[in-house]
Amino acid sequence: MTTRGSESPRMSRRQRVGILGGGQLARMMALAGLPLGLQFKVLDPAADACAGECAPLLNAAFDDAAALQALAGEVDVVTFDFENVPADSARALAGKVPVFPAPDALAVAQDRLAEKTLFRELGIPVPAFAAVDSREGLERALDEVGVPCILKTRRLGYDGKGQFRIRSHADADAAWEALGAQAARVGLILEAFVPFDGEVSVVAVRGRDGEFRAWPLTANWHVDGVLSASLAPAPVPARVQDTALRYARLLAEKLGYVGVFALELFRRGDQLLANEMAPRVHNSGHWTIEGAETSQFENHLRAVLGLPLGSTAMRGHACMLNWIGAMPDAAGVLGQAGGHWHDYGKEPRAGRKVGHATFRADTPQALADALEAAGAALERQAQVVPVVALLRG
Ligand code: AMP
Repeated sequence: MTTRGSESPRMSRRQRVGILGGGQLARMMALAGLPLGLQFKVLDPAADACAGECAPLLNAAFDDAAALQALAGEVDVVTFDFENVPADSARALAGKVPVFPAPDALAVAQDRLAEKTLFRELGIPVPAFAAVDSREGLERALDEVGVPCILKTRRLGYDGKGQFRIRSHADADAAWEALGAQAARVGLILEAFVPFDGEVSVVAVRGRDGEFRAWPLTANWHVDGVLSASLAPAPVPARVQDTALRYARLLAEKLGYVGVFALELFRRGDQLLANEMAPRVHNSGHWTIEGAETSQFENHLRAVLGLPLGSTAMRGHACMLNWIGAMPDAAGVLGQAGGHWHDYGKEPRAGRKVGHATFRADTPQALADALEAAGAALERQAQVVPVVALLRG
């Protein structure tokens, strides 16, 4: 038997990617990876996890040792669509198969206190913050941080869940009533409330060889703590963009990070304050599917597999609108130039992210026109108004 050239059987075999978490992020990763010839296996406790329409689903809890063992045996690399996977599960897997991002990076991003402490160590500005572990501790933290402020769970919070806004000292009892029981289980942190001019995020990727790339800074709007709209490139001065990218790079290098991540920041004038890091592909990077040369999903897969990273250059201007709770009428988006529709195939439910739309155009004016038309057609003016105002500047 002869072997042709230097091609080994291993190199010619299709690469298999395991994903912990089977939501829309895993689904979009699979959709991006299929053209690359990749195969996927997704682990999720929910039998109807929406990535299951695009990749075989392994139905098990994230701490099911036998399921993790089975997954490790079937794939070449494991990654996440969900950062709250138990760090012990990630570590157990890492002993058997390459896991990216590394469990230690995941552990930092799972804890708001560890994350903010790291930002501070790296010289990345953060709002004032203090750990809280008791009712008396809350009083001490209030004195240290000042009001207004926000009491948050250190772990397992997302999309504004596990947060209580404190306007004055008189709100302390209500805040403790709401979150005090969580102090022992997931820990609490008190953060100064930032009267920001805007919210921005850097979505960036670092390869296994240390190569770092970032998409242009994205401007974000949240409603009730949940992302509503994203615009890229964020209309900010170049020095603000450079600072944000420098912070993201510092963080990625410190953590030896591999894969895509997002750094969310508050902007006050030219000043940026870090809010949090998401150690995964991110909702504020969904626009990259149509709006960038290489999407965040494809570059994440390239990174974790050790493949060359793709260009993060933009194709014009892009805006993403999230659909929360229920999908609007697709025709309102598909009828606009540059309108793209994403339905995650999830059952409608209040507060649930069920899909998004991305609008892409060559100029800010054309993008504003398409958004206004879609806002009117879908009766979603409130969602597009702040974006259009910024675009029309
Ligand atoms: P988070 O879960 O920390 O990303 O918070 C969700 C959203 O709540 C953020 O995107 C902000 O809109 C708002 N928020 C969170 N923390 C603060 C803060 N310290 N100051 C002002 N707004 C905040």
